Amino acid sequence: MKNKQEKIIKINNLLLERYGEPFRQKNLPGPVDMLIATILSQNTNDANSFRAYNNLKANINGWEDIVDIKQQKLEKIISVAGLAKQKAAAIKNFIKTNIREQKKISLDYVRDMNEQDAISNLTRFKGVGVKTASCVLLFALDRNVCPVDTHVHRIVNRLGIVEATTPDKTFYQLNENFPEKIAHQFHTNLIKLGREICKPAKPSCAICPIKKHCVFTGKNFDKNITAKKREFMLLDNVEPAGN
Ligand code: SF4
Repeated sequence: MKNKQEKIIKINNLLLERYGEPFRQKNLPGPVDMLIATILSQNTNDANSFRAYNNLKANINGWEDIVDIKQQKLEKIISVAGLAKQKAAAIKNFIKTNIREQKKISLDYVRDMNEQDAISNLTRFKGVGVKTASCVLLFALDRNVCPVDTHVHRIVNRLGIVEATTPDKTFYQLNENFPEKIAHQFHTNLIKLGREICKPAKPSCAICPIKKHCVFTGKNFDKNITAKKREFMLLDNVEPAGN
């Protein structure tokens, strides 16, 4: 266990040397904003989900307006993010259920919960999985929780930090006694590494800053590889509806 923590800290320091301290908004968005933005981001890239989020905001004055928007219209508004049917249904279901339970749109009650209770609570909503719930915890509530998307799942398994077959299993292994205060850095810089260097096929291991910690047997040391910078991170640029 201690070895796992030490390894995460060493890798985090090397990633900080390579990519620096990731950008973070001064005023974090609310948990509702983050939940909706993360639903929109499922299975698409940050640029398209950012467009969908902004389209949605431009069509409403506040999240409560979603109750009266017809499902088909909502699908059209968010279509650039893909999977519009499922995402529109998930957003509508969340808004309606939240109003029924809280008499308003608010997830502020989650602020008082521990991480596991918060994840259990948020994943009750149809279309909200562990990754979406953990993004709410990290990006809106500033909890020291490292969400696991496909990049994080692939890389922490290649590094031998965890040994898990699905992102959700990876999430629980990775976050058990996660080192304090570094979840946002680690998560964000790993995604940068995954987009630029540690790709699913043919990772660019020759230029990888953390290769000495990697136990992946399929390393690729081909020459003539360059890392293409991809900086934009949706969940660090989410603003509330009405702004
Ligand atoms: S050495 Fe290669 S496989 Fe390992 S983390 Fe780096 S890029 Fe990925």
